Amino acid sequence: MKTIGLLGGMSWESTTSYYKAINERVKAELGGLHSAKICLYSVDFAEIEQLQHAGDWPATARILAQAAKSVEKGGADFLMICTNTMHKVFHEIESQISIPVLHIADATAQQLVRDKVTKVGLLGTRFTMEQDFYKGRLVENFGIEVITPAPDEQSLVHEVIYQELCQGIIEPESKARYLEIIENLQQRGAQAVILGCTEIALLVQQSDTETPLYDTAEIHAIRAVEFALA
Ligand code: GLU
Repeated sequence: MKTIGLLGGMSWESTTSYYKAINERVKAELGGLHSAKICLYSVDFAEIEQLQHAGDWPATARILAQAAKSVEKGGADFLMICTNTMHKVFHEIESQISIPVLHIADATAQQLVRDKVTKVGLLGTRFTMEQDFYKGRLVENFGIEVITPAPDEQSLVHEVIYQELCQGIIEPESKARYLEIIENLQQRGAQAVILGCTEIALLVQQSDTETPLYDTAEIHAIRAVEFALA
């Protein structure tokens, strides 16, 4: 079994989801007392979030690249960046280490392709929904059409992530709004919706809607176990 490197803490609420999903998958695959070999570096998210909203992405890249080097030194065979948003600086991190980095959008897109989804809705932080680092990869590398919520809906999705989900706050009204937004995306032709922020599955689950949901934290975690056991 390879050692899985996790760059976590963004937020720690979703890092616990990764830790649990990875170990559950290893147990399902190997049984008994088996558990995952994990080397985790968890950052202080307050520092990262401030830099994100100030637009200082180079500073976030420096912090995460340094953390990634620690994970590599700690014995990880490959790295997972446990957040969609920070894949904005994927190349800056990847170029500083010699172990492979498994991209969260690639893992998600591979699952969409397997399920023959060609048009998908995307929920995430404003950075993930608006910018090209994530959507572009789905379109250019996998030929998947990506649609995002209307501007006022995007603001709500973004605010709920930072003000509630990343702080462990689960509000029924926010859940109802998210489900409406998912419904709107489906009405506009989305065959499925990507939960493109690793905390969203804390708020909405597949049992809440008939629209197929793709939880990026879970998909990414399962991909890690496949890679670790291959
Ligand atoms: N975990 C979130 C994501 O998947 C948001 C927090 C962050 O900005 O990293 O995008």
